[in-house]
Amino acid sequence: MMTKQQSNSRVQINIDLSKRGRQIGDIKLKWSDNRQPLGYYPVPIICLSNGSGPTILLTGGVHGDEFEGPVALMRLIQKLSLDDIHGRVIILPALNAAAVQASSRVSPVDLLNLNRAFPGDADGSPTQMMAHFVETVLLPECDVVIDLHTGGKASIFAPCVLAQVDSNTSLGKANLALAKAFATPYLWVAGIKNDNRSLSAAAARQQISMIAAELGGGGGCDPSMANFTETAVMRCLSHLGIVAGSDDQYCSKMECINLTEAWVSPAVGLLDRHFHIGDKVVVGQFAGWLHFVNEPERPSLELKFNTSGIILAHSNRGMVERGDLIANIATSCSVEGIN
Ligand SMILES: [Zn+2]
Repeated sequence: MMTKQQSNSRVQINIDLSKRGRQIGDIKLKWSDNRQPLGYYPVPIICLSNGSGPTILLTGGVHGDEFEGPVALMRLIQKLSLDDIHGRVIILPALNAAAVQASSRVSPVDLLNLNRAFPGDADGSPTQMMAHFVETVLLPECDVVIDLHTGGKASIFAPCVLAQVDSNTSLGKANLALAKAFATPYLWVAGIKNDNRSLSAAAARQQISMIAAELGGGGGCDPSMANFTETAVMRCLSHLGIVAGSDDQYCSKMECINLTEAWVSPAVGLLDRHFHIGDKVVVGQFAGWLHFVNEPERPSLELKFNTSGIILAHSNRGMVERGDLIANIATSCSVEGIN
């Protein structure tokens, strides 16, 4: 495992993560462009450290148009008392802070997607530098990571946790237990098809227990989803023994799913969607229409499902282009020890 000293990161941090107490500071991303020639792009970091116990990293805003996670984490920063903590909680409510500020999925500084930038590059662009910092400096400090996402402006996800839950490994077992404590209706089982440039992949490389959650979407902040996220994170802190309380306050049954190939639009058109997240659909079932709003005499295209399964996510767009997501359909699978 790489230590802080061994990392060649150019990114600095103005708090001492080894110190006991409540610290609020910045990860300092120096880049020097027209907007920020001599200062730095700040990424807020909050560290609550008290006594012995595991270290958990809680991240939101990896994508800057996904707000339920950052909202839940901001609530926790204000609610969590140092006296309640056994271990260390490191919170990055807006890991891609410039993107969150701009309500943008990708960084407005270099237009890169942070969750496709791992393992990053110490000498790369700001997003690549941050990915490298997280993978080589922050992750080696941690035992557990929870990364909070939604579908952003472009899509809506059924609440789910994405995790590698191979029951043959202690890491897979730890991830499954953490996923059960988070307790979304669906457990999206990570496999070899999942992108190896994500934070989840970085945690797996470092052999750190991790779940990523997808919690709705649309680019705003749904209050019921923010509430769910806050209580789900608290359940995980209880489960890990970082805060007191029981992690058996939940009794939801998680359905395990594998993702199939994304179903994308065959043409430019107005998407008239006739289904919702969580719907169970079958091949050939009517899914909606694609209307050619600029050519009203052209017959609308009838959309039919080409895969049977559960709607895990769908487009949040009215107008779609060829290749844009219509829906992500998942199929049920079984995971040892799930229920
Ligand atoms: Zn995301």
